[in-house]
Amino acid sequence: MPKDFSRAESAAVHGGSHVRLGLTPPVTTPIFQTAAYELPSTAAAAGIFDLLQDGHAYTRLNNPTNDVLEERMAAVDGAAAGLAVASGQAAVSLALLNLCQAGDNLVSSNELYGGTWNLLANTFARFGIETRFVSPDDPANFAAATDARTRCWFGETLPNPRLRLFPVEEVAGLAEEHGVPLVLDNTMLPYVLRPIEFGAHVLVYSATKYIGGHGSSLGGLILDAGTFDWERHADRHPLMTTPDPAHGGVVWTRTGRDLDSALGRSGYLLKARETLLRDLGPCLSPFNAFLLLQGLETLPLRMRVHGENSTRVAGFLQEHPLVERVVHPSLAEGEEGARVRRYLGGNNGPLVQFEIKGGQEAGSRFIEALRLFSHVTNIGDVRSMATHPASTTHAQLPEAQQLAAGVTRGSVRLAVGVEHIDDLLADLDQALKAL
Ligand code: PLP
Repeated sequence: MPKDFSRAESAAVHGGSHVRLGLTPPVTTPIFQTAAYELPSTAAAAGIFDLLQDGHAYTRLNNPTNDVLEERMAAVDGAAAGLAVASGQAAVSLALLNLCQAGDNLVSSNELYGGTWNLLANTFARFGIETRFVSPDDPANFAAATDARTRCWFGETLPNPRLRLFPVEEVAGLAEEHGVPLVLDNTMLPYVLRPIEFGAHVLVYSATKYIGGHGSSLGGLILDAGTFDWERHADRHPLMTTPDPAHGGVVWTRTGRDLDSALGRSGYLLKARETLLRDLGPCLSPFNAFLLLQGLETLPLRMRVHGENSTRVAGFLQEHPLVERVVHPSLAEGEEGARVRRYLGGNNGPLVQFEIKGGQEAGSRFIEALRLFSHVTNIGDVRSMATHPASTTHAQLPEAQQLAAGVTRGSVRLAVGVEHIDDLLADLDQALKAL
């Protein structure tokens, strides 16, 4: 029997329990480590390939372990359906390529993870897809950059290291008016922020980070809220609403509706799965899906502790005489502060950025003096991690661009883990004293 629940904490544990995994279903989702599946008959095989019947044929397209992960994260976020892929980068790529082709454009926030910025500014440009970068400070910027060939708007809910919350509701409202879906990367705030409740249409995640939570496995997820009306804006979305030669001439908004599984709940994700995942191939290993599911079960618990610890760390640094400036959602004021309180409901997320007096040299010395925090450029682990962006993630950028990204010479980014807060504060204290 599928489990009965309504809240995200329960969804993180039980979401996907309706996926059929055998006559006496295993309690823990097993790893279906198989490339292919025995097809019951030639008629059933044809039905699966023609999207008339549920079933598995080949793990590049779907896999029972991955099905549970997709369903579970969709349940956590209140989405209609999900698609698991090999990495966060694959999730961003497929989510956007699913809507755009050569000659089209998308409008994106200019506050982005560096990998995504490169994807849009260089790789997509080589595909003939233009990205128009705008500041999310004023939601009207998205509308002003939109024309008849704009297929979607994109942003990150909590871009780092700037840590300014994206105005989800305001931009989503304008996106509805303009007939474009708002695609948001919610990697930094799974469970904490539920962007679909504020109008976002599609979510992407690097599951490598907080969803997995243990820094062991790469993975990505795309979730469809199921709220965007493609047919109403058919002229703007021909890839969704006109026959697709990439799959026997199906129209994605009208295909798969009879399928019982998640495949039938999102024409948008069915298209991504049956064309882009099929053709480009960035599928998630079921072994990684298993590890990500293990992490997902404790996501709400971990995010609560990340949020409590990061807020204590931000408060401690704010008072420290050797610290010039601290950036953390709890310290946001005015309109931004009001947005933080409304969107995040008291959990300020896991990240803190601060600036040490003494510039780059002091920043480097501080990182080297840490004894509990690890020096890692990754985030999203249970372990606390520190990075000096000016000498690592942003080292290739000229200083002017570093400043535009919110990085100064003395900036340090902390991804605060779930260790005891006393140990974390003691480590920061001793490292600051060592300067
Ligand atoms: N999106 C954001 C916001 C990220 O921080 C990252 C990785 O750091 C990615 C996407 C890419 O994820 P992955 O490393 O899983 O490909």
